[in-house]
Amino acid sequence: MSADHVRNTRAMAASPRCGASTRGGLACRAPAVRGKLRCRMHGGAPGSGAPWGNRNARKHGAFTRERIAERRAIRELLDEAGKLLGELDSN
Ligand SMILES: [Zn+2]
Repeated sequence: MSADHVRNTRAMAASPRCGASTRGGLACRAPAVRGKLRCRMHGGAPGSGAPWGNRNARKHGAFTRERIAERRAIRELLDEAGKLLGELDSN
């Protein structure tokens, strides 16, 4: 390597590293995949891991924000109708 060519490896050295434990007991230290915490060998590969939003935890959707709001709206409508009927009855 000639003296007029200064190698700049700062960005490479500063890049996030994989922290997976190896069989040797030390961290992997290979460059982590962009936007992930692990290298391509330790679960950072595209398509690996669980899908975003934890859709696997959803079983029937009865307690999503939308369904809860829907039930509340129905409840309020029925309460209003009941009050109105009570007023008509007392008159
Ligand atoms: Zn790794």
